[in-house]
Amino acid sequence: MDFRLTDEQAALRESVREFAREVIAPVIAEHYEQHTFPYEVIRQMGKMGLFGLPFAEEHGGMGGDYFALCLALEELARVDSSVAITLEAAVSLGAMPIYRFGTEEQKATWLPRLLSGEALAGFGLTEPGTGSDAAGTQTRAVLDGDEWVINGSKAFITNSGTDITAMVTVTAVTGMNPDGSKELSTIIVPTGTPGFTVAPGYSKVGWTASDTHELTFDDCRVPAANLLGARGRGFAQFLRILDEGRIAIAALAVGLAQGCVDESIKYAKERHAFGQPIGANQAIQFKIADMELKAHTARLAYYDAAARMLAGEPFKRQAAIAKLHASTIAVDNAREATQIHGGYGFMNEYPVARFWRDSKILEIGEGTSEVQRMIIARDLGL
Ligand SMILES: Cc1cc2nc3c(=O)[nH]c(=O)nc-3n(C[C@H](O)[C@H](O)[C@H](O)COP(=O)(O)OP(=O)(O)OC[C@H]3O[C@@H](n4cnc5c(N)ncnc54)[C@H](O)[C@@H]3O)c2cc1C
Repeated sequence: MDFRLTDEQAALRESVREFAREVIAPVIAEHYEQHTFPYEVIRQMGKMGLFGLPFAEEHGGMGGDYFALCLALEELARVDSSVAITLEAAVSLGAMPIYRFGTEEQKATWLPRLLSGEALAGFGLTEPGTGSDAAGTQTRAVLDGDEWVINGSKAFITNSGTDITAMVTVTAVTGMNPDGSKELSTIIVPTGTPGFTVAPGYSKVGWTASDTHELTFDDCRVPAANLLGARGRGFAQFLRILDEGRIAIAALAVGLAQGCVDESIKYAKERHAFGQPIGANQAIQFKIADMELKAHTARLAYYDAAARMLAGEPFKRQAAIAKLHASTIAVDNAREATQIHGGYGFMNEYPVARFWRDSKILEIGEGTSEVQRMIIARDLGL
């Protein structure tokens, strides 16, 4: 067992760390405040190859693996989570379904642009009326000749409405299974298809420089060939995509938790009270020591889940544990970092205020903490 990074992994981590500090940090507060999407940052991330990290070179990827993606996400989120979630959703929710389940033609059509970061894709599973309970999906797709006719709506879909969004994949009910359950399938809907409407962006508590929209489909017609993988495989497909995605979200949460440590150390040395730096107080030192402890152990949890996944072993429980633990400690660290910053921690100009606002969604997105506990309990045979 060896959790040390290879030279290549360490170099990747270093280059993303430097990029986050030098390119993202100076501009992100303004985007966050104005709720604008950081196109120039995303373009540069594309040039660095970040969108192609876990994909084979034959499809335009960098030939790395999912762990490389996680390392990059951790370093981005250490500085900013809006940018990190944009990459996470673009890769693990946007491009990955096409890469894993698409036909050669679908891969050739979409992957080159998605893997270069020139275009983004969204993944539409959640609906206004159902999230955790995906079997409650109401969106329907009916085959009419050689076209699918889609009706319904999707809620909270990341990367679905940027100027460079090329398409979304949506889950829809395409019939009934023999056991009476809904037959779910996944269908590719290109941006601009008549009947596909993207609502204005939500007003969010955090991740305000990321792109999230409600989508509606009103007699929206796409070619039958836009079915992703086999008909009726929608449920299995998104379970696989979400299992992997949990490791990526755990990495993102660890980054946020570590960013809280970074900012707290800096501030504890600068800020004076009662004639000494606040960091001279053991109460502050212990807070920061506990924050480091949490970030470190959560990192080991996602390293373990990623290692199992890459070894082809079962990893569902470990991914759920990593996501549950990392999101919990990210919220803890954001709360403590804000406390260490006192009144300034409540001011948006300080990164910890952003970390605080960005932390809560980690306990909700890509499966709530309750859902993670359900997955773990089920895997334990309960
Ligand atoms: C900013 C943002 C971006 C997102 N991006 C995407 C995206 O790109 N694509 C996408 O498809 N979705 C996306 N989502 C949706 C997200 O994954 C869902 O919000 C999440 O899965 C929870 O679903 P819900 O909001 O419907 O909550 P619900 O499922 O309605 O749950 C409400 C509460 O009830 C609890 N609960 C539900 N069932 C049980 C149970 N059996 N036992 C105990 N407690 C239970 C939940 O844990 C939660 O606390 C995004 C959400 C946000 C806010």
